[in-house]
Amino acid sequence: MEQIVTYLSAEQIAERVKALGAELHKDYQGKRPVIVIVLKGSFVFAADLVRAIDLNHLRVDFLAVRSYGEGTESSGVVQIVADLTRPIEDEDVIVVEDIVDTGLTLNYLLDLLQTRKPKSLKICALLHKPSRTRVQVPIDYLGFTIEDKFVVGYGLDFAERYRNLPFIGVLQRT
Ligand code: IMP
Repeated sequence: MEQIVTYLSAEQIAERVKALGAELHKDYQGKRPVIVIVLKGSFVFAADLVRAIDLNHLRVDFLAVRSYGEGTESSGVVQIVADLTRPIEDEDVIVVEDIVDTGLTLNYLLDLLQTRKPKSLKICALLHKPSRTRVQVPIDYLGFTIEDKFVVGYGLDFAERYRNLPFIGVLQRT
């Protein structure tokens, strides 16, 4: 039997996302940022985040990645399954990630995006598990630091399940 125990409630997440949106609004005044949403896990977070950023000139684009790894461990070998629709040269780019675990996926992605010569490149991640870090990546905007637990919900999956949960929970087997 599987059971989901609430780790971060919908209310806690909403409050934090609002604050992140306000921070981005302040930092990107007069700019036209491109929000790069890393699929699939970030889609719920990004949908809430962009609605919390009160800027008239903001565009969104999507990138789908697949990380090859053993079970729940990422290997750092990342395949771009779907690429951005437009160039990001000279753009102020904000990469939106669901979770930074080992950091390997984001590290690879940042190197790739840098080759496209954006004006600036910042990271906004909802969750960070510092205890699992293998590569240090600079997280400019962070929702929550969490313990070493496998979490699901609010876009995050376990074998493609639970992305639709409105809160973040820990999967427990009973
Ligand atoms: P990293 O390369 O180890 O940082 O892994 C990043 C990716 O692994 C994330 O974008 C997630 O898709 C996935 N991931 C890592 N930890 C979790 C978790 O606790 N729950 C669900 N997915 C996770």
